[in-house]
Amino acid sequence: VAMSSITVPPPKCLQKTFVAPRRHMFGPGPSNVPPRILAAGAEPIIGHMHPEMLEIMSDIKSGIQYAFQTQNNMTIAVSGTGHTAMECAIFNAVEPGEGVLTAVNGIWGERAAEMAERIGARVNSIVTTAGGYFTSEEIDRALAKHKPVLFFLTHGESSTGVVHPLDGIGDICHKHNCLFLVDCVASMGGAPLHMDKQGIDILYSGSQKVLNAPPGTAPISFSERACQKVFNRKTKPVSFFLDMTWLANYWGCDGKPARIYHHTAPVSAFYSLRESLAILAEQGLENSWQRHKEVAEYFHEGLENMGLKLFVKDKNARLPTVTTIVAPPGYDWKEITSYIMKNHNLEISGGLGPSVGQVLRVGLMGGNSSKASVDMVLEALRDALRYCHKSKV
Ligand code: PMP
Repeated sequence: VAMSSITVPPPKCLQKTFVAPRRHMFGPGPSNVPPRILAAGAEPIIGHMHPEMLEIMSDIKSGIQYAFQTQNNMTIAVSGTGHTAMECAIFNAVEPGEGVLTAVNGIWGERAAEMAERIGARVNSIVTTAGGYFTSEEIDRALAKHKPVLFFLTHGESSTGVVHPLDGIGDICHKHNCLFLVDCVASMGGAPLHMDKQGIDILYSGSQKVLNAPPGTAPISFSERACQKVFNRKTKPVSFFLDMTWLANYWGCDGKPARIYHHTAPVSAFYSLRESLAILAEQGLENSWQRHKEVAEYFHEGLENMGLKLFVKDKNARLPTVTTIVAPPGYDWKEITSYIMKNHNLEISGGLGPSVGQVLRVGLMGGNSSKASVDMVLEALRDALRYCHKSKV
């Protein structure tokens, strides 16, 4: 036998067939992907520039325009997760030395600030307690003081369970000559949102929450006002991959007849994203908003009946997609989440960023937003509170 030239043998672990566990995905994301969307993603691969693919991208664009309620031509899906879209927004809209203001009422405003710092922006933040939100007056004052070119706000704060009011803030930003950037990763499809009517200049989301598509693609849209800034920069954005000049051409948004290869689109992920948007369009956006609201209210009532407390005191500020429950006193929250995973095959999670140790988080998004899911979570929580260790202190 000839001596082998390889020094690293084939790994034994790869000889085992992988089968993903069936699980109720009731954490803050990813959510369960229904068979129809999984099946779409299992279709054969075609070229990323084949005419059928360009048609799929055009369908995705229309689907995002519907989900965002915008007529913006500059509407695409970024190849990457929510963070990719966040960086796409900030990297394209801001040049080094320019001012950015972020609203921090959870982890996402902190992350946005860090991203802006990394590209050399002057960053200021307004900060409120986890579970709180900002008044228009507070935002107006901070914009007048710091004079940023971009203001970042999270619509659905998944780390704290707050849905932020949006009405009027776009006008305030524009009065201060500032672009209004909104994160709707955790809220799109689950809470009312009108990009155009609310004067939002840049809006991005993710595929793995209400849309019930696999993680890895992220809708984003730029208003005319945002495009004026993005396409008249003095410096190139630091990221080639996220440069909107390239992406606009790739998505056929720049009016040029020829599409130039930029990157290989995640073909299967686009199939799935298209299917998820098709389902949302079939169901109707307003029906989806209404269902998430009713299911969340049913859930909140069930929790309170069990003696649990909701973290967000103001009823109107409770995010319908991700519920934050005050971590039950005397229990170790990690024991509760592990018990439920082990015995109920169901994911719920602990806090994130400023809410770590303070809350349990339950996400009921898209197809998971149903009274049947609520009953399952309540039963699992009841069981966990009975069997998990309760300290005597
Ligand atoms: N923003 C919000 C509000 C989110 O909930 C998330 C995901 N938890 C993100 C941004 C980041 O998305 P991703 O994990 O897909 O990068």
